[in-house]
Amino acid sequence: MQYDIIVVGCGISGATIAERCAMLLNKKVLILEKRDHIGGNCYDYYDTNGVLVSRYGAHLFHTNFEEVWEYINRFDSWNPYVHKVVASVDGKLVPVPVNITTVNLLLGTHIQNEAEMKEWLSTQVVPIANPKNSEESGLSRVGPKLYEALFKQYTQKQWDKSPTELAAAVLDRIPVRTNFDDRYFSDKYQAQPANGYTHFFERLLDHPNIHVSLNTDYFEYVKIHGSNTQVFFTGPIDQYFASVIGKKLEYRSIRFQFEQYNYPYFQSNSVVNYPNDHEYTRIVEYKHITRQTGNHTTISREFPTWEGEPYYPVLSENNLDLYAQFQKLAAQEEQKGVYFVGRLANYKYYNMDQAFKNALDTFARIFPNS
Ligand code: UDP
Repeated sequence: MQYDIIVVGCGISGATIAERCAMLLNKKVLILEKRDHIGGNCYDYYDTNGVLVSRYGAHLFHTNFEEVWEYINRFDSWNPYVHKVVASVDGKLVPVPVNITTVNLLLGTHIQNEAEMKEWLSTQVVPIANPKNSEESGLSRVGPKLYEALFKQYTQKQWDKSPTELAAAVLDRIPVRTNFDDRYFSDKYQAQPANGYTHFFERLLDHPNIHVSLNTDYFEYVKIHGSNTQVFFTGPIDQYFASVIGKKLEYRSIRFQFEQYNYPYFQSNSVVNYPNDHEYTRIVEYKHITRQTGNHTTISREFPTWEGEPYYPVLSENNLDLYAQFQKLAAQEEQKGVYFVGRLANYKYYNMDQAFKNALDTFARIFPNS
């Protein structure tokens, strides 16, 4: 079969681009996926106990983008799910993001309302007008006590860097609440795919013009077949330009240690963060998220590492400077019909909805008359 477009990677970005090209342009699309499954890091599967688990950690969908919400609902049904997280600190489980309960539990205060919480915070925070890094973001929003209890060590473990080396945007992801709101996200739409993410991707990709080739490395494919089509590349941008710029961007990974138990639940919450103890950052128990029932449960402990699949761009000054060099090459490469889409190719800490949006926007930009 002759293809009009090659898409490299079958995660959110690649699958969305492929769907749009097939559906709106009637193009024949070949997706080359290095791994043995679709769905990228959203991939989930039923383990040997029949528990639906995510191979690459929990994925919690949330968005304020009407367009993205409408788009994902075209393919599969989604169940409302409001995510909540607790952190284990000094033997107590306290809500994250910080809210009134967090402060009362951790510091023995008796804050009762928003006005009191604002007043208390004002006595804690370090006045920093424009936080330059994640430490300044934390100190300026919650002050040193909460920063040290909840964020400092977690961030060090997660990124293997001091928060002072990371852009403020990393810690800015976590809001501070002056009320009792214990939701992890504040977005209008918060939901999980009713039949799991892999099923959602099967539906997204279910089009006669889309062919997915698993276990296929793009760079090997090009050596054999050449490349004379448009290409949408969603892999790490430094791999694409490795022969031009020898330097590597840092991408942080996670080793997931799965454990199965023959009882219904392991912990009280879907996610328990461990900022200060243990080598892992958090324990995820999937059943709380999928609402599966049954007498078995599966958890995963997350050990951040530099080995393995690239998951997170590391927003340090060095990496961002280096990315700017790659970005210039990417702009030139567009003249040849190669486009860079998604978290790894744009070196952006996208949430899932931002990845969908980035793919939809890129499609609209490249094919304005579609
Ligand atoms: N973070 C933290 N303590 C927490 C939760 C998050 O210090 O209890 C910091 C940490 O640096 C983390 C960042 O906030 O990498 C973003 O957290 P998020 O939960 O958004 O990370 P993700 O789910 O993308 O791994």
